[in-house]
Amino acid sequence: MIDFGFSISKSSHIQMDDVDLKTFKKLEALNPDINTCMSCGLCTATCSAGNFTDVSFRKIILMLQRGKDKEALQKVKRCMMCGKCMMICSRGINTRNILLSITRLYNEEEK
Ligand code: SF4
Ligand code: SF4
Repeated sequence: MIDFGFSISKSSHIQMDDVDLKTFKKLEALNPDINTCMSCGLCTATCSAGNFTDVSFRKIILMLQRGKDKEALQKVKRCMMCGKCMMICSRGINTRNILLSITRLYNEEEK
């Protein structure tokens, strides 16, 4: 194969009928306010850990809604639980509680 110095990105197409939303449904039951997120990105813009890592509350929720649980958990692990995202959220979502719920859900699954 000829090396052009670039490659075509892997397709990010997601077949929603095949996505396992088990974790997101559990999270939704514990924190119904998760559905009021409008992906405005304010939480990400003010994230303390976001300056040094790839933590982004907005992306974490989008990943969970698409069944990308492992990728979401990797991001949650870098969160410092400072709560700044909760204070700035335009919808008043208890983001910190959601982050804690995600950690608990995964810890329960690992047992
Ligand atoms: S600030 Fe609130 S509404 Fe906006 S993306 Fe973050 S969680 Fe969602
Ligand atoms: S609680 Fe986590 S996601 Fe929210 S601002 Fe702090 S480090 Fe970022």
